[in-house]
Amino acid sequence: MAEHIGIDLGTTHSLVAATINGVPTVLPDPETGDALLPSIVHFAADDSILVGNAAEALLVTDPLTTIYSAKRLMGRGAGDSEMASDGLAYAITSDCQVLLPNGTRISAPAVASHILQTLAARAAAALGTTDIKAVITVPAYFNDAQRQATRDAAALAGLAVDRIINEPTAASLSVGLHRLTTATIAVYDLGGGTFDVSILKLEDGVFEVLSTGGDTRLGGDDFDQAIATWLQGFGLQLPPAELRISAEAGKVALSKNLSTDVLGVVLTRPVFEKLIGETVERTITLTAAALADAGLTTAGIDAVVLVGGSTRVPLVRSRVEAYFGKPALTDVDPDQVVALGAAIQADILAGNRTDTLLLDVTPLSLGIETIGGATEKLIYRNTRIPTQAIEHFTTSKDGQTKVLIHVVQGEREMAADNRSLARIELEGIPALPAGVPKVNVTFRIDANGILRVDANEERSGIKAVVRVKPTYGIEQSDVRAAVRASFVHADEDVAARTRADMVNEATSALIGLSKLFVTHRDRLEAETIEAITAARVVLEDAIANAPDHSTIREAWDALEDVARPLAELAMSDIATNLVSGKTLTDALAFLEERSRERKGLDTPGA
Ligand code: ADP
Ligand code: MG
Repeated sequence: MAEHIGIDLGTTHSLVAATINGVPTVLPDPETGDALLPSIVHFAADDSILVGNAAEALLVTDPLTTIYSAKRLMGRGAGDSEMASDGLAYAITSDCQVLLPNGTRISAPAVASHILQTLAARAAAALGTTDIKAVITVPAYFNDAQRQATRDAAALAGLAVDRIINEPTAASLSVGLHRLTTATIAVYDLGGGTFDVSILKLEDGVFEVLSTGGDTRLGGDDFDQAIATWLQGFGLQLPPAELRISAEAGKVALSKNLSTDVLGVVLTRPVFEKLIGETVERTITLTAAALADAGLTTAGIDAVVLVGGSTRVPLVRSRVEAYFGKPALTDVDPDQVVALGAAIQADILAGNRTDTLLLDVTPLSLGIETIGGATEKLIYRNTRIPTQAIEHFTTSKDGQTKVLIHVVQGEREMAADNRSLARIELEGIPALPAGVPKVNVTFRIDANGILRVDANEERSGIKAVVRVKPTYGIEQSDVRAAVRASFVHADEDVAARTRADMVNEATSALIGLSKLFVTHRDRLEAETIEAITAARVVLEDAIANAPDHSTIREAWDALEDVARPLAELAMSDIATNLVSGKTLTDALAFLEERSRERKGLDTPGA
């Protein structure tokens, strides 16, 4: 079976990720541990090729043969070269191929194929197979020719492509937005040399691009340039490349610290923010334009996703959040968010997503606590959502007017070992013998993973409802731990559960016995009455104190034995009444009261 990977083929950096044991994971360079591969390829005179850091190291010394930002050339042709070549240190032909000094022409897909090959090799080493299929991301604005060029690059690299998906869609998957039924999403992607903003509409698992905007010549490089220019103001005379490298290091430091030292000059965050203020403002203007294109205002945006290394700059983040008036989703590394999303998409296409939080299944079982402390599961783990289940319960004591619906999550048999999600009380149940009220409990999980618990009592019509998000605050590792615990504790759980069920059964039988006793006592022999009373005390004691179910079982069997005359009397009464056709209702009522199908619920606070 092929392994499925996700690749973010970026202008500045590229990276590869795969879903391993249900967790999207970046596959780093095994030697350096670096996740990011600089999207740079060096073509030496002897035909040898270097990719990534090794190529980046030659940018300054071999500018004509060290090819960076080749993504700008993808799917471009005659007529695009003037625009595409702007700012590039190497030469390109009129149809947007790279032109080396020795006259060799290299197509943009051929350049990209070396990057893809390097990432595919990383994946093959990490996953232990060369049978690999990839999801590759492209900017949302890429046209058919640009997407085809990306497929061509993969073909040249000998890499099978599962699908080409949009970078903003991948980012949205990464932060889990696909779990929503419907949402309007703004993805703000500020990379090294490009700014892309995309407005997406998610509806029933399908992402649609409403509009795109941005500037293919705006990004973190401009921040570096602003610092470099500022440094020159201090009379620093250094080669531009060296100046830029120091400037970038200073910029990165200021994402963490309030001040830093660049080439012996102190640069504070406020000064840096003044230097880049206009550039940041321009991204906001472009964002507003994309929103207007989609026919929206900021109020129509449900979620804001930040992508790209430059969104680590605090001013960028705060400005974007202020503009949208809501916090951005930033819990996934902005450098990795696209690749991780591509890995999720790859895993979805592989059909592997059956036991994860990220798709449409419930990760752990959901149920309620019944009398004796057992968990009655209504929805089992790995059930596809949306889903619903209904179960009927009853009271456990005569005249009980309130029941506790304790909603728990987990795989353990006893409620106390599971995670408590909610407690609701259903009040106003008519005072009836235990087992007679019919309490219906419905669990519904909608497509967003929200659980709604409805409880009602049939006769009185009283209702209670609660909504919870069962996946709130749990991680994949918690899910695995919960499942593992149910195996580890399987024996003790079965014992506890068997005991709880036995308690439940014996308790309801005792209640039934009391009733029969009242109506038939005067027709029983004195020693039978005595024996039943004694056996009853033993059973009640076993229910209260016996650690295992077999003691209760024995006490119950002993009671059954001595109560045989009572049972026979009661049954013959029913038979007589049935034959004479008088009190069918009585018989049914009798049978209903003894029904063991409905488990009893405890009173609140018990
Ligand atoms: P692309 O998608 O164009 O390949 P990236 O998302 O990799 O680009 O972003 C690269 C940019 O992010 C560079 O300009 C880099 O300097 C900047 N960057 C990376 N980390 C930080 C940081 N901690 N603070 C500020 N900028 C950063
Ligand atoms: Mg990017």
